[in-house]
Amino acid sequence: MPALPPGSTIGILGGGQLGRMLAMAAARLGLRCHVYSDASGPAFDVAAETTIGAFEDLGHIRAFAERCDVVTYEFENVPLGAAAAAASMRPVRPGPRALEVAQDRLVEKQFVAGLGLPVAPFANVDTRADLDDALATLGTPAILKTCRLGYDGKGQARIADGADPAWALSAIGHRPAILEGLVAFEYEVSVLLVRALDGETRFYDIPENRHREGILATSTVPSRLPPVAAERARQIAARIAHALDYVGVLAVEMFYLGADAAEPILVNELAPRVHNSGHWTIDACTVSQFESHIRAVAGWPLGATGRHSDAVMENLIGHDADHWAALAAEPGTALHLYGKNEARPGRKMGHVTRVKASG
Ligand code: AMP
Repeated sequence: MPALPPGSTIGILGGGQLGRMLAMAAARLGLRCHVYSDASGPAFDVAAETTIGAFEDLGHIRAFAERCDVVTYEFENVPLGAAAAAASMRPVRPGPRALEVAQDRLVEKQFVAGLGLPVAPFANVDTRADLDDALATLGTPAILKTCRLGYDGKGQARIADGADPAWALSAIGHRPAILEGLVAFEYEVSVLLVRALDGETRFYDIPENRHREGILATSTVPSRLPPVAAERARQIAARIAHALDYVGVLAVEMFYLGADAAEPILVNELAPRVHNSGHWTIDACTVSQFESHIRAVAGWPLGATGRHSDAVMENLIGHDADHWAALAAEPGTALHLYGKNEARPGRKMGHVTRVKASG
């Protein structure tokens, strides 16, 4: 398919802040966005067209897709049926296979391990007996994670040495899960890449990510990651993208275990979409992750992913955003607010990127 010309419409399934920043990037290229979501959200303020509908209403999804030239998504829990319904009308990029893999931690771990790539030791846990077996094999400390619908540390329970495993099962609501050995990592990083329709792949600089209470707090570039480990991390992410025949921005979250580890990089999880750890690219790169995603799904040439500035991105969670006026006055700081009216604890209200031109 030739590149979609300016004036074309990109459909976005999901109406959150990622959709908002995608729509803003698309507008810069003269492309329109049509957002479909089950409720109004941050993307609705900036999209050319919006539709509110259930993701289970496949007729509604098909009618929406018919009015778009290509369809993408901004969250990985888009029901597969909705993605398939959209795909029956228009190309869906990235393809539904990426959703299928990323929606289920067990499928995801098996997929990554099946490519011969390194992951934390894991086992499938559906019952108490499975958990006892898994603990006997993997030992403690360990971390129990629901297979589906866990994010920002939700649906997870850590099992310390000597802890009662029954508690962990009830903490995650007795849902199908995986047990993972707790990895003693030095720090966390993520590879953000963009892959075009013809397979050309470009990378952003790899940020170092810090979490607070399971939620991303900061992403910093440059990271401390040694060049050899960074190269290995890029290779791993590219292998995953290739295996999925991926189109768009893919984020691969990883643990860095240190230069002395036999395998210094482990894959933690995939996000088949633009990612919070790439928000700094708006202010520190010529072409942001959002524009890269739009270019890729619209069949455009990829843009320059290089970084012109050092950057620290800090999420504004809950009432952090109340300090918007002071943040807006900070020199060298780019303030991004998502237009959410109610600051609930743990809710991502915006972010700031503190930039410094790199030497
Ligand atoms: P996840 O939802 O899998 O990204 O997990 C949320 C956070 O929990 C990660 O960013 C890590 O900080 C931590 N975590 C997850 N899995 C492990 C693990 N196997 N070992 C150590 N820390 C982990």
